[in-house]
Amino acid sequence: MRYISTRGQAPALNFEDVLLAGLATDGGLYVPENLPRFTQEEIASWAGLPYHELAFRVMRPFVTGSIPDADFKKILEETYGVFSHNAVAPLRQLNGNEWVLELFHGPTLAFKDFALQLLGRLLDYVLEKRGERVVIIGATSGDTGSAAIEGCKHCENVDIFILHPHNRVSEVQRRQMTTLFGENIHNIAIEGNFDDCQEMVKASFADQRFLKGTRLVAVNSINWARIMAQIVYYFHASLQLGGPARSVSFSVPTGNFGDIFAGYLARNMGLPINQLIVATNRNDILHRFMSGNQYVKETLHATLSPSMDIMVSSNFERLLFDMHGRNGAALAELMESFKQGGGFSVEQERWTETRKLFDSLAVDDAQTCETIAEVYAQTGELLDPHTAIGVKAARECRRSLDIPMVILGTAHPVKFPEAVEKAGVGKALELPPHLADLFEREERCTVLANDLKTVQAFVSQHGNRGKPL
Ligand SMILES: *Cc1c(COP(=O)(O)O)cnc(C)c1O
Repeated sequence: MRYISTRGQAPALNFEDVLLAGLATDGGLYVPENLPRFTQEEIASWAGLPYHELAFRVMRPFVTGSIPDADFKKILEETYGVFSHNAVAPLRQLNGNEWVLELFHGPTLAFKDFALQLLGRLLDYVLEKRGERVVIIGATSGDTGSAAIEGCKHCENVDIFILHPHNRVSEVQRRQMTTLFGENIHNIAIEGNFDDCQEMVKASFADQRFLKGTRLVAVNSINWARIMAQIVYYFHASLQLGGPARSVSFSVPTGNFGDIFAGYLARNMGLPINQLIVATNRNDILHRFMSGNQYVKETLHATLSPSMDIMVSSNFERLLFDMHGRNGAALAELMESFKQGGGFSVEQERWTETRKLFDSLAVDDAQTCETIAEVYAQTGELLDPHTAIGVKAARECRRSLDIPMVILGTAHPVKFPEAVEKAGVGKALELPPHLADLFEREERCTVLANDLKTVQAFVSQHGNRGKPL
């Protein structure tokens, strides 16, 4: 399988190189040159497979040529073996034909474990084969950091540096990062906000001299391997609900358009999906595009669903690429004008075509809390605020009651106690057994000034299993 850049100017890469790449050299994102397509009979024959075996069948074409089948199978069995639920991604029914796909049974209680548990193992496998070491520098507002550290903690050939804004992540989220120890794990609290952290990561990718030749790898969802891993659970959910003979719809709480883009790919790979609902919070650039064909940056608002607090959706470029007939030059021009002027619309026919599949809704904090309370009263299920936004959007935007509606349950409610308290359901939140003593555990974290040179000096001093690069 070969991968090409959405902006058409960077060299095509194989899977191994795309795994180790960040942005393409032309500023674009990597996508498969040709998407694999499965027949209905083939998909139907996967019914009842354990999650890791289904994962092998869905993802195999993407890694062909880079990872032999037997090795890939073993990696997947290990990856999904660490999830605490036998079904890995169980479906829970809320109402007639309405389901939550619970994606929070991994080590850090959010869906990001599906991709980052795999990414860590793939990196270790590929780097060992090549005899190379890499450094990861990632910024997090909460969920990505802990999932990335959990995914990479056993990696022999990776040093991971996670920057979070000092005193601006929830205590559960902070402790999920800072209580994991290892000579290759480095938590850095920056005296600044999330954007400051992200800017430092971007600047480090742009000028890597401080790494003295060590390669820098991305763990945010611009990394193709993360998207690839998320395609699997769309197949998994559909097969539980009568697919592929029957079509299924999905509502996806979305920030960077990574998770929902995986659903779009599943459909293009042959899975019958009737409708994809983009569910955003008040940071609604994607909703404004889907409802009014305006992709325009606005100010950032802090919400009760912080993992979706974004101004611009990085993966949306991957959809725009397809919308423009995979014309890299056209896309480069569009993204450049976005950078200069702050907004665009696409040609009407392209937008209308996209809307055949996608609907959208923006949900504010008050509605989020109302939905948590409503679902708790109706079912006794406690939703996290992101999942609640997905449920609200599903109920507002649903096209057909005959088609099963699956809401992606992106996090466990215990990660976001503020929203649950505000919803007033009065149910005590309990950490699952593997995290029961989280608040008693020792923490390790270095607080650094909001200064690029200081952070880069720290990385060069500790980037080789805690020793200088
Ligand atoms: C990351 C995250 C999201 C948004 O995912 P995208 O792939 O950026 O759309 C939604 N909910 C939770 C809990 C998350 O951690």
